[in-house]
Amino acid sequence: MLKRIVRIREIMRTIGADGIIAYSPENRRYLSGFTGSTGYVIISEKEAGFVTDFRYTEQASVQCKGFEIIKNESPLVEYLSYTIEKYGIKKLAFEDNFMTVDFYEKLRKKIKAKTEMIPLEEKIGEIRIIKDDDELENIKKAAEIADLAFLHILDYIKPGVKEMDIALELEYFMKKHGSSNNSFEFIVASGNRSSMPHGVATDKKINNGDLLTLDYGCVYNGYCSDMTRTIVVGKATDEQKRIYSIVLKAQEEALLKIKAGVLGKEVDKIARDIITEAGYGDNFGHGLGHGVGLAVHEEPRLSPTGNRVLEKNMVVTNEPGIYIPGFGGVRIEDLIVVGKDKPIILSKSPKELIEL
Ligand code: ZN
Ligand code: ZN
Repeated sequence: MLKRIVRIREIMRTIGADGIIAYSPENRRYLSGFTGSTGYVIISEKEAGFVTDFRYTEQASVQCKGFEIIKNESPLVEYLSYTIEKYGIKKLAFEDNFMTVDFYEKLRKKIKAKTEMIPLEEKIGEIRIIKDDDELENIKKAAEIADLAFLHILDYIKPGVKEMDIALELEYFMKKHGSSNNSFEFIVASGNRSSMPHGVATDKKINNGDLLTLDYGCVYNGYCSDMTRTIVVGKATDEQKRIYSIVLKAQEEALLKIKAGVLGKEVDKIARDIITEAGYGDNFGHGLGHGVGLAVHEEPRLSPTGNRVLEKNMVVTNEPGIYIPGFGGVRIEDLIVVGKDKPIILSKSPKELIEL
């Protein structure tokens, strides 16, 4: 945590701030180690404080090493402004992409005579992009649990089972195996519904012959996994096989390109060109992938506009898809650590077309 605070102080200086306030769940946890749901990190050049209420002061004093724990009562802004003033902060950076207008106005009114507020933009997200060894271990474990769940769910899926029951079974199994939460609302999209890239589970029953897309992940020690597999329930038609093989080729070719020094958009282009040449460019309407960490969607983006250079120990997804209304869709997604010369693939579930 200390290293992270050193980094955040460097960032403060680059934007002309001498303090920050952060309380979005991911940034709060990243900077302080706090896993609870209410608390405000305030860091100045010399001090680090954690403002929270009665419910969390004991937990914070255990988890937030090196932080002064300040117990707030109501109104909260009194305690925040007291801490900001005590730490001598004159230019306070805040999470402009997270703070509500209401909260901003209250805080600004309270501290305005002595302290200016400066937008932090995505600067904490910037330091979260490259993962340290502990973070990588947690993400790897979250991916392992998702892989185990895939093997388990193959036995569970059959015609007549509802999408919602598949989602619940995935959740139950992963929680039994160490997951603390779902990393997002699972996509379980069968038959025609599989042409919706974000078709969350409904009470639709699985039919024989359905394409079935499962996109899910879990949280382990705060870190997310994210994986997609598409299978056919029953025997695949030639058309299903053909679409599947195009997506698989795009996914595998793009995978080979993922390494340090490459731009996100260069990786995206490999997959997009393959899908476009096969005639389905318009049926692949989302970016190829995204970063994963404390949040399931974070930087860097692998998309046509992804201008960031990939670096060692970034964690990204590679998830091309083809979605055809009235027919269905196929997406295949792996979770990957960017290596110096090659990708380190965390998702180990099989990618050849499974016909159940
Ligand atoms: Zn996914
Ligand atoms: Zn994803």
